[in-house]
Order: sequence, then C-alpha cells, then structure tokens
Amino acid sequence: MNQANQNLLHPSRRVGADLAAWRKVGGGKGLLAALSAPENIIATLQDANLCGMGGAGFPTWRKWEAAVAAQSKNGDKYVVCNANEDEPGTFKDRVLLAETPHQVIEGVLIAAVACRANKAVLYVNPHQTESIASLTPAIEEWKTSDLFIRIENYLGKPLDLQLVKTSGRYIGGEETAVISWLEGNFPFPRRKPPFPAESGVFGAPTLINNTETFANIPQILANGAEWYRNLGLGEAAGTKLYSLSGDVLNPGLYELPMGTTLHELIYVHGGGMLEGRTFKAVFTGGPSNTLLTAKDLDVPLDFVSVRERKSSLGTGAMIVISEGTSVVRKVSEYVEFFAANSCGQCPPCKGGTFQLSRLLNRVDTGIGTADDLHALQSLCKLLPHSGRCGLIDGAVTVLQSSLRTFPEEYGLPGEQER
Ligand code: SF4
Repeated sequence: MNQANQNLLHPSRRVGADLAAWRKVGGGKGLLAALSAPENIIATLQDANLCGMGGAGFPTWRKWEAAVAAQSKNGDKYVVCNANEDEPGTFKDRVLLAETPHQVIEGVLIAAVACRANKAVLYVNPHQTESIASLTPAIEEWKTSDLFIRIENYLGKPLDLQLVKTSGRYIGGEETAVISWLEGNFPFPRRKPPFPAESGVFGAPTLINNTETFANIPQILANGAEWYRNLGLGEAAGTKLYSLSGDVLNPGLYELPMGTTLHELIYVHGGGMLEGRTFKAVFTGGPSNTLLTAKDLDVPLDFVSVRERKSSLGTGAMIVISEGTSVVRKVSEYVEFFAANSCGQCPPCKGGTFQLSRLLNRVDTGIGTADDLHALQSLCKLLPHSGRCGLIDGAVTVLQSSLRTFPEEYGLPGEQER
C-alpha cells in the first residue's frame, strides 16, 4: 500500500490481530456507543450518508433498516461481511482484513447489535491468505473479550461469530450467491426479490455488506455522523479506498476523501502516467462499467458525480490505460473473464458471454469481419437484463462503452455519444 490517511487505514490503526492494541487506538468505542444507544444506530448511518462500498453504492442504512424490521421465523438473523473480492483491479478488502481486522469485525458486531442478529459471518475468499491469517486469531480474541460478553448480554442469546471461506469464485460475491454458499450449495445467484434482508440464509433475515462498508461503521459510531460527512469533499461523505492500477507511476491503494477528482488520484497520488505515456482512458470500478476518458479527468470520484458521467464508481477500482494500449484487447480480456466466470444457469449469459468473447477475440486478432461487428452490436442489444444477476450486464456495458468511445479501434466510424 502506497498511502493511506484519515480514516480506515491510518497507520496507527494497522494493528494486525492484536485486540488490545486495537482498543488502545480507539477501537471498541464505536461498539460501546452502539450498545449504549442501539436505537440510534440506523439514524446515525443515515445522517452520515454512508453508502455500500461493494459496487452498487446503495444507502447502507436502508439495508440495515430492512434487516432490523424483518421478522425471523426460526429466531435466526445473519450479518455477513462479504470479503469475496475477486474482481480484476480491486484490492482493497484484502488489505483492510490483513492490516486492521478488528475494525472490520467491530463493524460486523455493531451490525449484529443493530439487527439483534445471532449469526455473524466473515465470508472470505480463500485466496486472500493474509486476510485469513490475520482474521482467524482476531476473531478468537473478540470471542473471549469483555466486549463480546456485553454484546451477548444485550442480545440475550449467544452470538455465533465465524469465518467462512468462500468458493473462491468471482460469482460467489454476488449477494444471493453468498446465501447459496452459506446454505451449503454451489454459489448460484438467485432472483430478487426476496431480498436477503427479508429472506436470506435458510430463509432468515440476512444483512450483507461489503468489507469496506463495515470498516467505516466503528469510526462513524465513535466520532459521529457529522465528523464522517466532513471527511468528504463537496456533497460527498467520508473517504474511499481507491485501487489504482495500470499505466501510472505509483499504482496502489489510496484512501482519500470521497469526491477526490480522477485527475488528483492519477496525477498527484498516483504520480502521473508512466514516463513517455499519455492518458487514454480508465476502467472505473472494475471491468464492468462505462469507460471514462480525458474529458472526465475533472470528475469527482463519488457515487453521484461518476453516475452523472453515466458510469459507476463501483468498488473504487481505477484501471488506467495509456495511448497505444488496445481498448479492444483490454475489453476482450475482461469479457473473457466474465465468460469464464458465468455460473452457467442462465442460457443467455452462458452462451452470450462466450459468443461476445469469441467475437472480440476475432476482432482483436485481426480476423474479425463486418459480420462479426454486426453480431457484437446485436448481442449488445439482446443480452442486457437476460440473467439472474448483473454479470452479463457488466460484460455488455464495458463492451458497449468501448464501441461508443473508441469506434475506430473496431473499424467503425466516428465517436458517438456516451
Ligand atoms: Fe450465472 Fe450469468 Fe445467470 Fe448470473 S447471469 S446467474 S452469472 S448464468
């Protein structure tokens, strides 16, 4: 990690699995605040304007409110920290879990208090070995702590806190796939509704949030909503972990105020482009969104501003490419990734992503024909919203974006409107 400041990854908070060290730097205060006024937790999150950091940017308090309100038929309620992180270009959750596991666990425990959940799961990609090495002893430390006893006293029942290794598949991070896996099945995504907060693991209300989202919770509860909001720039609240990669001098993980411009991220924190290279475009939020180009360098990197450019902040991943890099090649690689990671239960996705990948490979290797391009464009119209989850839409979005923005690379005439 090259740089971190202010909130989640302040150096003093990188205490590894030592719970006593975590409490010495302020850990536990958020949880105590939650236990002293559990009825205020959701209003505080709403006031803080915290949004989910896993991709969708959905207001966190709304999910929590639904999970609190949901009635459990068998008495169980689940809180799940989604740390499956497996998308190209995103590498933030593994750092949080490896360097400050107690911060994430404390966020999960606060959620358990808010929802009165009796099951708390750290759902972790088995390939993130440093995360698991740090989390495993950290969980055991919490289970024998005085704070944990206070939580169980408040709940009036035991709290089952455990680490569950995911399937290690990309699709396993989709929130309904999380439920399937925790029920002991292959991580097939399911149709929504019902939403997990209403009916999740074995039908029990299940609150699922991303790791970075949970890592924000203790700081918000300890320092207040206004403090958190003021960390952001303009209307944006808090901070964001940006995974910066590609053709920049200093790729790495940066925690910066939410609303930092793309230009500042690349040219100040990232050190600018590699010597002799010129900025061409950035794949935002991973490989499944609309490309941003030089005319977007001024965009503040927050959920609303990036959406206004018809793209998405997603996970905060920023994959920068320079002039001379083939957009067709990059998109072909990403669509191949989606094709390889389709779970296969929706025929349009299984066949469609394979066809997109095959056609893109033909274009990229110079043997594509006008018919291939026509077929690509037709599939872009046919495939959206034809799957149970968003994988197929992500593949189409990045392809359509590249066709519109860099048509000449496909042998098509003139740039079109985004
Ligand atoms: Fe699986 Fe694709 Fe259907 Fe998603 S859209 S459930 S990845 S087949």
